[in-house]
Amino acid sequence: MTELDIRERLKSVKYPGFTRDIVSFGLVKSISIDPKRCEVRLSILTENSEVVREIVAGVETVLGQVEGLPPADIIVERPALDKGAQARQLAKATGRGPSGLPGVARVVAVASGKGGVGKSTVAAHLAVALARRGLRVGLLDADIYGPSVPLLFGVPAGVSGGSDGEGRFLPVERYGVKLVSMGFFIGEGAALVWRGPMLTKALSQFLHDVAWGELDVLVLDLPPGTGDVQLTLTQSLAMDGGVIVTTPQDVALADVERGVKMFQQAEVPVLGVIENMSFHVCTGCGAHTHLFGDGGAARVANRFGLVTLGAIPLVRTLREAGDAGAPVVASDPDGDLARLFLQIAEKVSQAVGVGAEAGHA
Ligand code: ADP
Repeated sequence: MTELDIRERLKSVKYPGFTRDIVSFGLVKSISIDPKRCEVRLSILTENSEVVREIVAGVETVLGQVEGLPPADIIVERPALDKGAQARQLAKATGRGPSGLPGVARVVAVASGKGGVGKSTVAAHLAVALARRGLRVGLLDADIYGPSVPLLFGVPAGVSGGSDGEGRFLPVERYGVKLVSMGFFIGEGAALVWRGPMLTKALSQFLHDVAWGELDVLVLDLPPGTGDVQLTLTQSLAMDGGVIVTTPQDVALADVERGVKMFQQAEVPVLGVIENMSFHVCTGCGAHTHLFGDGGAARVANRFGLVTLGAIPLVRTLREAGDAGAPVVASDPDGDLARLFLQIAEKVSQAVGVGAEAGHA
């Protein structure tokens, strides 16, 4: 009987009140077995002693059923986390709570230091590419200043998914991605009226008021920039990773630093940088030209100890795909661009641990 076997068996212990087990919730910190003793360390956040007691009893029962196992010590650790981190961890574990989204396994935010770098284009293509990998994907367009998901996915103005019996918004599905956009709900000019705290409050509420169903990953298209609105949004959910979209120019690269700082402040791991409009491919001869310099994003990524998740060329087909409402990952699934986005999607899903584990890819 190895530590792995024990961990496997502990998957039969459910978190009280939930269908998920304590192993997948990350409560089992370590297991060690020697000939005389067996030790199981649990890390439990909740202050509810009844829940702790039930979990420990469950673990005891499982260990008691293992023949020949030496006497076991079950040690319960109370991780010392600040309140925000506690809330996020609990929300992530339970899918409930102040900042958790029920049914949503992972949340990945896409940010950029400023507008116009192709953040929404990249977020949309990343979402479709993740769906092509067999994952259940949602895309939330929180870009209140210029919601572009309706355009990018060809959802006509005024179309929304309606609401469910509990008054929650229902997403619209396109290209295998469940979509919700501020653009479904705000009239033209409305964004100009909402400012400061009112805007942030509306956005946070909106985030929690969508009936996503079961999702492996939710891609969050943040508003451009790295100010208070973006930070609040990033903190209002239990995020698993942040992706920063940039172009190779020096000015854009300075923005990467702000993006990294924003995610760090919100304690969100930065998964890496995507360099958009990285090079130009000549439609005549196929030559690659680095209009804005070469390798800039990689240098910046290095400086912050980040990886470059991919480099997307400046090509007319991407702009046209946006205007036509048909992401290239879906319209030209075997093309070079689709391949680039699929590679990025693979890195992202690996980084946040969805895919093989979810059993869909
Ligand atoms: P952001 O969300 O950063 O403001 P968008 O995704 O809306 O930027 O992109 C801005 C414009 O640039 C859009 O017209 C889009 O089609 C175009 N675009 C984005 N990425 C590329 C690219 N790699 N090649 C060509 N056009 C692009």
